Amino acid sequence: MQLNSLTEEELKELMPKYNEKAFRGSQLFNFFHAQKKTDFSTGNLPKKLVEELEKNEEIASVKIIEEYASKIDETKKLLFELGDENIVEGVLMKYKHGYSQCISTQVGCRMGCVFCASTKGGLVRNLTPAEMLLQVYEVEKKYGIKVSNVILMGSGEPLDNYDNVLKFLRLLHDEKGHNTSYRNMTISTCGIADKIIQLADENLPITLAISLHNTNNISRGKIMPINRKYKIEDVISACKYYSEKNSSRITFEYTLIHGQNDNESNALELKRILSGLNSHINLIPLNPIEEYDEKKPEKFQIENFKKNLEKLGLNATIRRELGSDIDASCGQLRRKYKRGVNSEICSSN
Ligand code: SF4
Repeated sequence: MQLNSLTEEELKELMPKYNEKAFRGSQLFNFFHAQKKTDFSTGNLPKKLVEELEKNEEIASVKIIEEYASKIDETKKLLFELGDENIVEGVLMKYKHGYSQCISTQVGCRMGCVFCASTKGGLVRNLTPAEMLLQVYEVEKKYGIKVSNVILMGSGEPLDNYDNVLKFLRLLHDEKGHNTSYRNMTISTCGIADKIIQLADENLPITLAISLHNTNNISRGKIMPINRKYKIEDVISACKYYSEKNSSRITFEYTLIHGQNDNESNALELKRILSGLNSHINLIPLNPIEEYDEKKPEKFQIENFKKNLEKLGLNATIRRELGSDIDASCGQLRRKYKRGVNSEICSSN
C-alpha cells in the first residue's frame, strides 16, 4: 500500500518496522496531508528513516500536465498524470461559496454508458486513495486555493472502487489533513443499488447523486447497461434507504437528449418514480461526443421541461454550463490528449 494512502493510525503502526516511535507516523501523516508533500527531500524527517522508506515503500505521485482554462468564466479543466503515466481528468469550478473540484476515481470505466467518453476504452485500473487526494492537493498548490467541495464525477464509477473511495473520503475528512466536511463531498453513481445501501450503512452524511438520464427501464437500459442489473425501482428504493439514514436529499442527474427523454410523459414518469423521496433534479443539456451524436435540446425546450417538472411539484435546476467554451465533457479531454488532438482544445499552455 502506498504510504500516502495510509491513515495516521496505519502510519504509526508501521513505524516499529523501522525501529521508530509511533510519533514519526504522525509526522509522516502531517507531511503528506497537511503539508501536501510527496518529496522527502523537502521535509525534515530523519535521514535514516527516509532512506529506508524510499527503499521499501511506495509513494503515489500525481502531476498536472495540461490545463484548459475557460475564457468566459474561471473554470479549469485539467489532465493529471499518475505515477504509471496513466492520465485522468478533472474540473475546477469557482462558485460564490468557494471552489468545487470534480475528480476521477478510476482510469477509464467499465460501466459502458453510451454517452460517455470515459468508458470507450474500458476500465484500465482503480485509483488509490492517495491518487484521488493528490488531484485535490496538486490543484490547491498550483492555484494557491482551498477546495471546499469535492465531487466524484470525473472518469470512473466511484462505487465500483468502493474501498479506495471510502478510504479517500475518510482521509479527506481527517481534521489533521484536509479537514473537509462529509456534506461537502458528493458521490455520483450510475446506480449500483447494493453499494448505495452499503454506503448508507457507513452513516457518513456524504451527498449522493444518481445519473438517471431516463425514466423507464427499457430506454435507460439502452444507454446505461447497469440498468440491466439494477432496475430504476432498485435504485430508487436504495436511495430512499440512503435518504432516510442520512436525512439527506438525493440529486438526480438527468441529461436531456432531444426526442428521447425530454417530453411530457418523461416529466410525468419522473413524478411517479420520485414520489415520496426527498429529491432534486439536475437537468444537464447533452454535450455530444463523437461516438454518441444525439441532439441537444434547444434552450426553450430545456426551459419547458423544467417548467413541466415544477408544475408537478418537483425540484429542478438546469446545470450552469461552466467552462462551456472548453469543448470537452467527461472523458473527452483524456481521449483527445492520448490521440494528440490538442489543437481542438482551448489550452492555456
Ligand atoms: S457516466 Fe460515469 S459510470 Fe457511466 S461510463 Fe461514464 S464514468 Fe462510467
